[in-house]
Amino acid sequence: MLKNLFIKPGNFCVANIYKGQSLKVISTFGNQVVDFWALNSENFNEILSMSHSRSALYKIWFEPNDILVSNHFKPILKVSSDTSQGCHDTLHAACSQGSYKFYGEPAPPSSCDENYNAAMEKIGAKSFATPSPWNLFEHAFVLDDGYLKDKPTTAKPGDYVELEALKNLIIICSACPSKVGSISGFEPQGATLEY
Ligand SMILES: [Zn+2]
Repeated sequence: MLKNLFIKPGNFCVANIYKGQSLKVISTFGNQVVDFWALNSENFNEILSMSHSRSALYKIWFEPNDILVSNHFKPILKVSSDTSQGCHDTLHAACSQGSYKFYGEPAPPSSCDENYNAAMEKIGAKSFATPSPWNLFEHAFVLDDGYLKDKPTTAKPGDYVELEALKNLIIICSACPSKVGSISGFEPQGATLEY
């Protein structure tokens, strides 16, 4: 029986996913960037790492059949399918009280950085620094001159990314409340985790 967790903008969810199990992160209404983290549930020091995965795959956007790796350079997640156009940023940090202040934007009640730390507290883990999230459905890319550019998400309602756990994992998803760069296409509307 599949579980469906709806994550309202600014909220988060935590899920235990077992090795071999699949999960889908769904842009329910087509207007939601989801900050995504995965931890080895048997060793919280091993996490999905964007920098290691970029180095392993030699690209900044991941696509079906890619094996994402942890900070130990070990396989941790496989991208099984993706119905969106595949724009899932791997470069931006999670939004935080600091980032809203930096960009001169009003801070929402709860940022993705705070959600990650609340999720870690919920599972009884110590969090020393928030790892770089995989920003699902966030359309950010590198221009020819090396600068970064954000565009509104290209996801359509119901678009999803399906992943297969290659270890026993704890998944943390934060429905990003940020409107900076219109990343969620103006008003974020929430996402669904199905597993
Ligand atoms: Zn955010």
